Amino acid sequence: MDNKVLTSFEITQTQLDTAAKMLHLEPAIHAILRVPMRELHVSIPVRMDNGDVKVFEGFRVQYNNARGPCKGGIRFHPDETIDTIRALAAWMTWKCAAVDIPFGGSKGGVICNPKGMSSGELERLSRGYIDAIWEFIGPDRDIPAPDVYTNPQIMAWMMDEYSKLKGYHSPAVITGKPLALGGSAGRGDATARGGLYTIVEAARHLNIDLSAATVAVQGYGNAGANIAILANGILGSRIVAVSDSKGGIYNEHGLEPNKVLQRKMETGSVINYSEAENLSNEELLGLRVDILCPAALENIITQANASKIKAKMVAELANGPTTPEADEILYDAGVFIIPDFLCNAGGVTVSYFEWVQNMYNYYWEEEEVHQRLNKKMAKAFQDVLSESLERKVNMRVAAYIVAVTRVAEAMKLRGWV
Ligand code: GLU
Repeated sequence: MDNKVLTSFEITQTQLDTAAKMLHLEPAIHAILRVPMRELHVSIPVRMDNGDVKVFEGFRVQYNNARGPCKGGIRFHPDETIDTIRALAAWMTWKCAAVDIPFGGSKGGVICNPKGMSSGELERLSRGYIDAIWEFIGPDRDIPAPDVYTNPQIMAWMMDEYSKLKGYHSPAVITGKPLALGGSAGRGDATARGGLYTIVEAARHLNIDLSAATVAVQGYGNAGANIAILANGILGSRIVAVSDSKGGIYNEHGLEPNKVLQRKMETGSVINYSEAENLSNEELLGLRVDILCPAALENIITQANASKIKAKMVAELANGPTTPEADEILYDAGVFIIPDFLCNAGGVTVSYFEWVQNMYNYYWEEEEVHQRLNKKMAKAFQDVLSESLERKVNMRVAAYIVAVTRVAEAMKLRGWV
């Protein structure tokens, strides 16, 4: 493989190409799946608290809707680019197909620094984004949700703005809403919980005793903090290290994930914690642990650091944390990867449950959501594992094979090719 650094979107295309070759995918289907169906670039004027108007740049990429309405979150991030949004929209397409929910894939983003904005500014930006894209979304068209640095309150403002524009209450246009506005029980920690269910399946396959397992988590946002809390609380695994964008902490005897979260909420970071030593994000990746969970952004495990990874299993709660070069290194080293769009599909799966509940206006108990989520995640994991064992390919290629086959079938049945 040459050493050109691929962009996130080029990575998704490379991954698709590998699967397409193995599947002998029809060239026309392959060509359609290599690029997004539709992209919106919008400018969002927002009145800031100091009276100035600032114009923000936003995107919504609708990648493919062969299996149903597009589905995917919205990120608010200073380093957002159209390239990452394209990649994330492609991954949403594969993710929804891998867990077999009736949605296509999309993603949105706004270039902004939400940590430096007041609540009023964030509300005006959220409403402005919907004003710019509302004609292109809808419960049967494209359904947004939270992602990096967006949350249930932002979803509530967006749902309200959309409903006002339509002239009627329309909760199913967006998922990840607060419970009081039609959110689903169990949506808050769904990404991590879904990941946990895949870890349980993988551990059974690899003969790892999870009650004695050690875990390192890179990223301590919604996915990272919740996987630490659930792996420790439900499985009894020992969380030896966690990190965020400022750095990490390590305690070989185990951290108390809830206390660490409390501290992050008070100080803005997990670092300088009295019951642990500081370590860097790079050091965390190289720890000798059973399970390593990248749970932040893309391109974290690369050609430069992959050979240092000593974990038995990498559970990718983030989208796109491992580059294709790193994938090969890890595969050759016998590290078992639960690939991103399988491992982190719990969020969109419960988003689907939320949409279903909104559509028939009848709400489920949390227990029921957990059971249904477990069933979906375990089935998806087993589908991918069988493909991987049968074809002797790594779990990522296998996940692509499962997902691309399903999307291609829908395209053929529709008569697109
Ligand atoms: N942002 C989450 C993801 O990347 C959830 C998307 C959704 O619920 O639509 O999977």
